[in-house]
Formats: sequence, structure tokens, C-alpha cells
Amino acid sequence: MRLRNKPWADDFLQENEAIVVQEPFAHKNSWQNLFLQHQPLHLEIGTGKGQFIAGMGNQHPEINFVGIERVKSVIVGAVKKVLEAETENVRLVNENARDLRDMFGENEVDHLYLNFSDPWPKTKHEKRRLTYHTFLEQYQSILKPDGEITLKTDNQKLFEYSLVSFSHFGMQIEEVQLDLHEYSDPLNVPTEYEEKFSGKGQPIYRCRVSFKG
Ligand code: SAM
Repeated sequence: MRLRNKPWADDFLQENEAIVVQEPFAHKNSWQNLFLQHQPLHLEIGTGKGQFIAGMGNQHPEINFVGIERVKSVIVGAVKKVLEAETENVRLVNENARDLRDMFGENEVDHLYLNFSDPWPKTKHEKRRLTYHTFLEQYQSILKPDGEITLKTDNQKLFEYSLVSFSHFGMQIEEVQLDLHEYSDPLNVPTEYEEKFSGKGQPIYRCRVSFKG
């Protein structure tokens, strides 16, 4: 059953306008006004069903979070997670993240998360990978000069591709972990995909990079 065309999903997203930003492009350079407090702004692209952003919102009341997810039937789940978490520092956007510079101003974002992004394994789809250089250009524009990107994935090929792409772009690799769950990190908030793949015994790759290079 396809939920995408279900009117109740549209109604649900509109009813929760305190969490779901209805006109995200209208808030360029003024995202802080959507939150109770002005504090660092962290952005997740491809939020999925929202376990990460809801958990991070709870763990970090000193940070404002925005999660972008393009699939309506999926972001409905994220809204429910944020409601359950009763956290006031998370906002969600039902959009494609391809035009980030139309949504966020220069230096407006402090940190960016790419969690288990679609790998797009075929070479002909390379441009769709969220670490393709055209995306890196956007990230560089909206991130503060000392801003960072944290990427987590189970996909070794996407991880290797991303490290090479960051490096070719002149970025600095701050930290690399080849098996995130080898040692427990009490601050790590797992995503839905992360739990699924680490539950099967697969290693989770994580890196933190910046544009300082
Ligand atoms: N981050 C979640 C997790 O780790 O459980 C979901 C991972 S899922 C593989 C990738 C998600 O990113 C999908 O829900 C997809 O719709 C979303 N996505 C992919 N490209 C996107 C884009 N350009 N803009 C917004 N969302 C995107």
C-alpha cells in the first residue's frame, strides 16, 4: 500500500506544523526563529524514520536540529518519533535536499549528518550520492567555516568513495572509525538502519570531516 498519496499523511504533516516546517525555503537565513532558543544548528539529510534526530534532540537540548527527508510516508514516522520524544529542539522538512543553498544561508549550519545515505552503486548514478562534489559545494556554502560533517554507513564502497571525494575536494579528515560498535560509545545515537545492520554483525563505518583543509 502506497502511503505517499494518502491525504491523511498530508493532513498529519500539516497538523504537526510546530514540528514539520511547511515552507522551508521561506526560512533561509532565519531558521533560528523557528526554535525556542538561538543555539547551534545541526542538519541531518535523509532523516528516515527519525530515531537519530529524535534521540539527538533529547541528548542535546543545547542544539537545534533540522532533519530533511524527501519521502512523505517515511517522514510521518519521524514526526511520531519527535512527538514521542517530547523534545522541542527538532524540526523536520519534507523536501529533496538537492537545493540546500535555497533553504539555508551561507554559514547558517554548524554541523551536518549523513546517516546511511543511499549508496547509488552504479557509476551512472554517481551524481546522486550525497558525497558527490556538487553536494560538497552546497555543504561548504551552508556550513560555518569550522563546521563539520559526520557520516555513518554500513556500505564500505560508499564509505571509501566518500573519503576519496572529501579528499579530492581538499577537505580534512578529522576522524575515521572502521567498526563503530567495536567499543561502546555512550554518546552514539543509532539510526534505524544502523541497528538493523549492526544487529546482523556488519561493521558500521563513521567519519568526521571538515572544510578546514
Ligand atoms: N538515515 C536513516 C537511517 O539511517 O535509518 C535512513 C536511511 S535510508 C537508507 C536513506 C533515507 O534518505 C531515505 O529515507 C531517503 O528517502 C532519504 N533521502 C535520500 N536522498 C535524499 C535527498 N536528496 N533529500 C532528502 N532525503 C533523501
